[in-house]
Amino acid sequence: MVFDELLNKDALSVQDIVFLLQCKGDEEKKLFAKSESVKKRHVDNIVYLRGLIEFSNLCRKDCNYCGIRKSNLNIDRFNLTDNDILQAAEFAFKNRFGSIVLQSGEIQSLAFTKRVVKLLDKILKLSNGQLRITLSCGEQSRDTFRQWLEHGATRYLLRIETSNEDLYYKIHPHDKFHSFEERVEALNNLKLLGYQTGTGVMIGLPYQTYEDLANDLLWIKKMDVDMVGMGPYLEHSGTPLYKFKSNLMPQTERFQLSLKMIAILRIIMKDINIASATSLQAIDKMGREKAIKIGANVLMPNITPGMYRNSYKLYDNKPCTDENPEDCKSCLEWRVSITNNIIAYGGYGDSQHHSHKRGSTLRKI
Ligand code: SAM
Repeated sequence: MVFDELLNKDALSVQDIVFLLQCKGDEEKKLFAKSESVKKRHVDNIVYLRGLIEFSNLCRKDCNYCGIRKSNLNIDRFNLTDNDILQAAEFAFKNRFGSIVLQSGEIQSLAFTKRVVKLLDKILKLSNGQLRITLSCGEQSRDTFRQWLEHGATRYLLRIETSNEDLYYKIHPHDKFHSFEERVEALNNLKLLGYQTGTGVMIGLPYQTYEDLANDLLWIKKMDVDMVGMGPYLEHSGTPLYKFKSNLMPQTERFQLSLKMIAILRIIMKDINIASATSLQAIDKMGREKAIKIGANVLMPNITPGMYRNSYKLYDNKPCTDENPEDCKSCLEWRVSITNNIIAYGGYGDSQHHSHKRGSTLRKI
């Protein structure tokens, strides 16, 4: 089949996507031109900001790829005070970010559930209800998800990491804390409760094949999620997967493959929100902007107080760990301006896919 016909097919098969993931040169340019035009038509050249607050690296999980895994004893564990978190939220509000993301390691306890409830109440109060709040605090019970929704969280990010169950158990311990089935169930609960639900995968993992990645995209489509964040897997020297370092695809290839994953996702899920992952910037200084150009429409500037960022190192060479929120903001403005996109200050950027599905009554900008 001619490449242009493939790009215009109504439904892509696994084989079609594998072919697209491997394309190079002029064909790759055509793929990116197509995804760029789909983005322009369906979500416009507008970038929404989510101020990212990484509020704690305490985690009960032991994911084999992650720098904040429980067994990594070589990091300082931290838990921001409520005051620090509220100040960061206020920074986002005053700078018209529209939304924040509260992310942490996974803690399951009544005290944690209540703490987040209290924070949600206070953030809504300080912003007069004018900050959208995304949570990314791992798997939780349906009741905890419900309480957080009732207290104002409207979006939740929970990456599946890989949709291949066998691969899932190669990159996670196979025990009761790391169940593929429960992660999928958590995502389904989030959807049923009415959250704008986000998921995603890591790209370039040990053992991962092009078929796996093609299946990931089709799985994400089948899950009918509203938001996706995905980016390259990056090595962390304090994790079990580090031993595969020399068998991995080179980082520059992982980067290019991630751009193709984003482009194909934009083509098959036209109206979702796609975040430009920080891990793209760890490989290429302009990585997040390149992703914005070819399909992503969400940026998550890190507004965690600078002194804690070093301790939230999920992978080696995480960017922007030594900057403060003000630095991050001005640097982003310049970066977005060179991609033909504009930042929608004050815009919530709710997922259009979610409103289309549910006839949502959330206020639009
Ligand atoms: N605990 C929450 C959860 O499980 O969803 C959120 C925090 S978790 C650290 C956020 C994301 O970081 C994970 O979903 C994973 O995809 C990403 N991550 C962790 N280690 C990584 C690595 N070495 N390379 C790239 N991404 C990584």
